[in-house]
Amino acid sequence: MTKELVSEAADEGASEPTVDATAAGEEEQFEAPERGSAEELLDAGAHDALDAMRHSTAHVMAEAVLDLVPGAKLGIGPAITDGFYYDFQLPRALTPGDLEAIEARMAESVAADHPFVRRELSPAEGRAFFVERDQPFKVESLDDLAARAKAEGSPMPPVSVYEHGAFVDLCKGPHVASTGKIGPFKLLAVAGAYWRGDEKRPMLQRIYGTVWPTQKELEDYLWRREEAKKRDHRRLGIQLDLFSFHDISPGAAFWHPKGWTLYRTLESAMRELQARRGYVEVYTPPLVHKRLWEQSGHWDLYREHMFLVEAEDQTFSLKPMNCPESTYIYRSRVRSYRELPLRIAEYGKLHRNELSGTLSGLTRVRHFVTDDGHIYLRPDQIGSEIEALLGEVREAYGWVGLEPRFTFGTRPDKALGDVALWDRAETLIGDALKRSGMSYRVKEKDGAFYAPKIDIQVEDALGREWQTATIQVDLVMLPERFDLHYIDEEGRPQRPVAIHRAIYGSLERFIGVLTEHFAGAFPFWLAPVQAIAIPIADRHVPAGEELAGVLRSHGLRVEVDGSSMRMQNKIRLAQEQKIPYMLVLGDREVEARSATVRRRGAAQGEAQPTEEWAALAERLAAEARERRPS
Ligand SMILES: [Zn+2]
Ligand SMILES: [Zn+2]
Repeated sequence: MTKELVSEAADEGASEPTVDATAAGEEEQFEAPERGSAEELLDAGAHDALDAMRHSTAHVMAEAVLDLVPGAKLGIGPAITDGFYYDFQLPRALTPGDLEAIEARMAESVAADHPFVRRELSPAEGRAFFVERDQPFKVESLDDLAARAKAEGSPMPPVSVYEHGAFVDLCKGPHVASTGKIGPFKLLAVAGAYWRGDEKRPMLQRIYGTVWPTQKELEDYLWRREEAKKRDHRRLGIQLDLFSFHDISPGAAFWHPKGWTLYRTLESAMRELQARRGYVEVYTPPLVHKRLWEQSGHWDLYREHMFLVEAEDQTFSLKPMNCPESTYIYRSRVRSYRELPLRIAEYGKLHRNELSGTLSGLTRVRHFVTDDGHIYLRPDQIGSEIEALLGEVREAYGWVGLEPRFTFGTRPDKALGDVALWDRAETLIGDALKRSGMSYRVKEKDGAFYAPKIDIQVEDALGREWQTATIQVDLVMLPERFDLHYIDEEGRPQRPVAIHRAIYGSLERFIGVLTEHFAGAFPFWLAPVQAIAIPIADRHVPAGEELAGVLRSHGLRVEVDGSSMRMQNKIRLAQEQKIPYMLVLGDREVEARSATVRRRGAAQGEAQPTEEWAALAERLAAEARERRPS
């Protein structure tokens, strides 16, 4: 089994966010992979016109820093997602005041509209140029390139530099035509970064900035960035008392009562859908002997990501995925073609040994559960089953108002298994996607080695794209490696196909995404506390308890604020907790066994209806059953 095969199998339901940069919150992170090799040092990261403008802005920033802080040594300054950075070695630490001065100096350079001019120097001229300007990091980059050329036995190519005004940088480009083409920009932050990402080398100061074609786009970006900080699920998790993280178990959430209610509500909704679709649910052991992973191929290639446990001189592992164990249930007896598709769901507790430095809230964890399903079917059933699975996705994402996007990955060059079966499976999947009427794109050769796959992405309220779920049509891994069969109409053993499917993906990750998407104001059906009774005075508290009892008997999640705070404070607190309904009780309401119903986020002066308890309970219970996304 190849490394890719194993890691793709391991990916199911727990893949990375496509964009993680703006979600980081307190310790804000920027997408800025370390660049170590000589080749990477010269890469401007400019793949399109916008990147070229961003990288050009980095040159203008470096020009300003050289002007304002004499003796500055230049590192590198590539374009990155949403902006750019430049690394500097400086005689002193930069302050926020410095950023303002640098921005002002940059604005002058933009106003002067200096053309960017490319020049080529011989390797010797180039080196002499940067030695003379006392730029040791540039000289080092050139020496590395020369050493590499020598090692390869090829001549060192000419050195290209870009010049605007009095500023010259070692650079492959491309750039915009002149500094006047640079759009509205803003410097965002200063962070430390080791030269070439090597902690044994000097720590430089990295200035991050952003630049956009128009003022409107800049303002939108700055708004999204602020909003992302406010919506950070780690912050909201504490504020709304949903979950917390502790050093004694890195990468695993401690679920508080409200967060666990959210978790179980999502699980029950999926269980209800699965029951309608004829799934059966199983539970297999989290701790299994390493023999299982030797058979599946994971032992050789995925072991470093497994937590191992020794007992009685035997090695066990905490399972990183449910797939292989599900075959034990399939193989527990002879299966007839009549039983297929056999849909086996499992909410198994999974552990993957991610490096502690990469863990982040609910989106990068070591301990998680997926809404996992393994469907065993005949090859001729692939089309109808995929169509039904797309329906599952559409329904579940409708509950939270997210629009799923599908990416169909087809056979990669090094695929395992029978090519004819691959072709047939791909045709059936393609037809099912077309019939679904949902938009999708095809990524040629992007399937897993054992399976064509459909990846599902969503875009959240801030326009960030997240990979959540996946459907993989496994032609090889489970069927062949675990030698699965069913008995066909003529009594002959046949090889089934297995579909790996997760709709939410990891529950942990999905909740992280939803928390940020809704900024904690979850839809009514999902909210941990759906309504709160607010008695105006102490004498109304018993009626509040009674009302809560009526609503709870309809399956609703209700609290009573029995404190002695004033009503306005109780409402403010309930608003902060983002509770969908506030039910206010005074003399009049208690007398009539009714409540004044205030919706979360209701506008000032909006009419607040008074509803009788029984009718209110019926109405809210019906609303919860609908699972509407608001
Ligand atoms: Zn450049
Ligand atoms: Zn699986």
